[in-house]
Amino acid sequence: MGEKMPVLFIGHGSPMNVILENGFTRSLAAWGRRLPRPRAIMVVSAHWLTAGTYVTCMDRPRTIHDFYGFPDELYAITYPSPGSPLEAQFVTGAGRKAQIQCNRDWGLDHGAWSVLKHLYPEADIPVFEMSLDYSFNDWHPKPLQYHYDLAAELAELRRRGILIIGSGNIVHNLARIDFRNMAAEPPPWAVEFDELAKGNLLSGNHRDLIEFQNMGRSAPLAVPTLDHYLPMIYVIALQEENEPLTFTHEGFQHGSISMRCFQIG
Ligand code: ZN
Repeated sequence: MGEKMPVLFIGHGSPMNVILENGFTRSLAAWGRRLPRPRAIMVVSAHWLTAGTYVTCMDRPRTIHDFYGFPDELYAITYPSPGSPLEAQFVTGAGRKAQIQCNRDWGLDHGAWSVLKHLYPEADIPVFEMSLDYSFNDWHPKPLQYHYDLAAELAELRRRGILIIGSGNIVHNLARIDFRNMAAEPPPWAVEFDELAKGNLLSGNHRDLIEFQNMGRSAPLAVPTLDHYLPMIYVIALQEENEPLTFTHEGFQHGSISMRCFQIG
């Protein structure tokens, strides 16, 4: 047991960021230098959707190139960090809300390695992933409150020296994206929702962030699917009373993707 680790939310955006140098990637590199060194890192990734909740339990997680149509250079990148089977096993015993299970064939998808490459370029800290339960019941996904409660049960991990990172995007609409232009001007609804989320994060209004459908007209455009929004719910669930929240980066990529990142604690 040592120092309580902060919790991070990272808006990861395009896989291209892994080979680019821009304001976002520079903010990740600077962030990595400021953070305490964790014993292990657990990434809750928008890109690992499962029925039920899983954590990766292997010694050596492989680098998964889970994207299509990008330059060859991206497919050659690996993030050879060790896994953390012991900490992953601990997580399987920590949840009461859900039966969290071990997985031995996933690895690190780009939700994890494309940001860790900038945050901890040495890849010498053990990393494991946690999946998002994307199962449906009578056509309904698990409510966001379910995810929030599940994540809140993982509070002890922070005191075990585990850095928890949610990797997604608060605003993420691929149907409205400008693929050709990373610097495209964001549409008004994207800016509006991102600002509303910012306000709720600053005031600690988790209720509205969980019931985001009530956050106005921009909500269905900003969050057309839950995958990239959910990792943020896991992060705020771990915010303790009066714990500070600091934004480390904000902005948009390809118009409809908010790159907002923040730290709790
Ligand atoms: Zn993504």
